Amino acid sequence: MTLFSVEHVSFGYSRDRLVLDDVSMSVQRGRSLGIVGESGSGKTTLLRLLLGLNRPTAGTIRFGDETLDIADRGFMRRYRRSVQAVFQDPYSSLDPRQKIASIIAEPLRSLRIAGSIDDAVRAALIAVGLSEDAMERYPHEFSGGQRQRIAIARAIVARPELVLADEAVSALDLSTRVRIVELLKTLAQSMTLVLVSHDLGVVGALCDDIVILERGRIVESGATRQILDAPEHPYTRKLIDSVPRMPA
Ligand code: ADP
Repeated sequence: MTLFSVEHVSFGYSRDRLVLDDVSMSVQRGRSLGIVGESGSGKTTLLRLLLGLNRPTAGTIRFGDETLDIADRGFMRRYRRSVQAVFQDPYSSLDPRQKIASIIAEPLRSLRIAGSIDDAVRAALIAVGLSEDAMERYPHEFSGGQRQRIAIARAIVARPELVLADEAVSALDLSTRVRIVELLKTLAQSMTLVLVSHDLGVVGALCDDIVILERGRIVESGATRQILDAPEHPYTRKLIDSVPRMPA
């Protein structure tokens, strides 16, 4: 079943240049989708449109049978409950003055979700492989990989249907990256994940489906295995060739 769809969406930060040009794609409930492209191809911009932070210049984004409309407060409230994000930099995305319990609880507070906040935070910490001792500590006490786990705990605490992750592992060293990819893979079994990355290796390891973005246009999309085994577009082949070979 289609969870959301992007239909002929274009976007430019200025009038004279489109950063996204007639993009169409859909995300199926329960399947994970990777959006891949080189730096500057428009991945973060597409994610911003999906989050309702920017409005498409043309085209439509549908969530279920509703249209994403930034001006529709009722819709945006429901949407924020269903969709959460994890950003690239685990150092800047966590407020250094807040305790971990308060950081993770933020979606529960802002969405005014009923129930025990402490219980929900504890469950989220355990789901991302951290112990509940973390609740009373501050971000600077944690490594980059642990911080990214905290950011993921915040994204899942309100049990969203969809998590959007922007280069969620790029800032991490290789062994930490592998472990966070494993965590995301486990979490993706119980929700829908959209992951944006310049790294086809990460997306290939994690996502069921892939969309390849080149300078704001989708050049290829489909099941991950099919795209990795038989890429049709030269740009996709170039991205595959640039993936460092992992030692077997
Ligand atoms: P990616 O995430 O694939 O690296 P972005 O979506 O960040 O790509 O950027 C796509 C294009 O949009 C780039 O040319 C970038 O310079 C431009 N861009 C990104 N953000 C802004 C902004 N706030 N104002 C103007 N141009 C921007």
